[in-house]
Amino acid sequence: MEKLSVLVLDDDDFILDVVHVMLKSFGVTDITCDTSAAMALPTLDMDNPRSVVLCDLNMPEMDGVEVVRYLGQQGFCGGVIVFSGEDSRLLQTVAEIGRAHHLRLLGALGKPIDRQALSRMLQNMAKDASALHHRPHVTLSAAELRDGLENDALTPYFQPQVDTLSRRVIGVEALARWRHPAKGILSPAAFISVAEQNALIAPLTERMITLSLRQWQLWNAAGLDLTISVNLSMHSLTRLDFPERLVAEAQSIGVPLDRLVLEITESQVSQDILVSSDVLARLCLKRVRLSIDDFGTAYSNMEKLQMLPFSELKIDQAFIHGAAKKPASYAIVKSSADLGRDLGMKIVAEGVETQEDWDCAGELGCDLIQGYFIARPMPGDQMPGWVRSWKWR
Ligand code: C2E
Ligand code: CA
Ligand code: CA
Repeated sequence: MEKLSVLVLDDDDFILDVVHVMLKSFGVTDITCDTSAAMALPTLDMDNPRSVVLCDLNMPEMDGVEVVRYLGQQGFCGGVIVFSGEDSRLLQTVAEIGRAHHLRLLGALGKPIDRQALSRMLQNMAKDASALHHRPHVTLSAAELRDGLENDALTPYFQPQVDTLSRRVIGVEALARWRHPAKGILSPAAFISVAEQNALIAPLTERMITLSLRQWQLWNAAGLDLTISVNLSMHSLTRLDFPERLVAEAQSIGVPLDRLVLEITESQVSQDILVSSDVLARLCLKRVRLSIDDFGTAYSNMEKLQMLPFSELKIDQAFIHGAAKKPASYAIVKSSADLGRDLGMKIVAEGVETQEDWDCAGELGCDLIQGYFIARPMPGDQMPGWVRSWKWR
């Protein structure tokens, strides 16, 4: 256990002290305690298989669910233990999210923390880590990112969205990829958070929008009329001229605004709502559609969400895949879909990996489905051919 490197996150200094004393008594020497996950996580070595994050579920600024999601998206190699005074269903949900992101979730502990249980989890981890081989995780540097953005390294891939009942292809989601000269095509885990930390997410988002609009034009000329969903970072919504610039660009490329959907993750919506509601309202007036992404993973304030002009709700893939066999996931999908429908929104199920997932999404009233069962994200020029072959199935 001496070789472990442990990060403890809790908004309560007293708990941090207690855990610190416990860890020292186990022989752990490399211990960092922090009351702010947002400050501590960027300094964490994501590639260290001996790293452990101990995290409280209820923290005001960035809660434990978001921490688990963040670690998953970063491809964190270490172990995660959550503690909470919440009921076991919530812990089960967090475990699902962790597993969906291929995280090593070592366990969940109630409060007050059971010394022996914690010791057992860390011992397992220490054994595990010595057997593990190092999995290198590619991350771009800020300089590489800056250069690449100027040299067209960024390219959108597109994943189809299909009408649950009619099977028709209705739209696509644009997902960022990076063409690396030596390492091939990289996925967003390698560069989105680097972009966010280095003030490069706004240019990256703008580039994704431009490339997606141009792709729409090419598809349209080939006889395809699809909606395109683009992932928006909250940074874009703090620029008051964002709607006007977007409209000008769509018009100059010749894309009707109602073919564009902007996806914003639920956790971002619930954080920065006041700053962004002005921009969101004006986007809506201009007929751009807004979608809440990764729904079910943050503790949203429903009253606030209801007041915002979202027309689509995307249920997080952590709950969709296997929902038919997991009562907790099933309940979350059902209540999210019911809520969205009551608010007049379109419901999208993402992470559909099997026919069973598809059937379950249909039964619970999801309008659109997206996932590996239908197609993996693909380069734009492959889409017309894929759509033609899909029609025959
Ligand atoms: P997301 O917006 O939730 O996108 C869905 C992710 O799930 C994509 O991963 C997609 O490839 C993957 N996926 C699709 N179907 C399935 C399935 O059936 N099973 C499983 N297990 N996964 C599936 P990807 O492309 O690696 O993107 C990861 C995340 O990176 C996205 O999650 C999004 O949050 C972020 N991202 C991607 N492109 C952009 C972008 O242009 N801007 C910003 N700000 N974020 C982006
Ligand atoms: Ca998305
Ligand atoms: Ca999502």
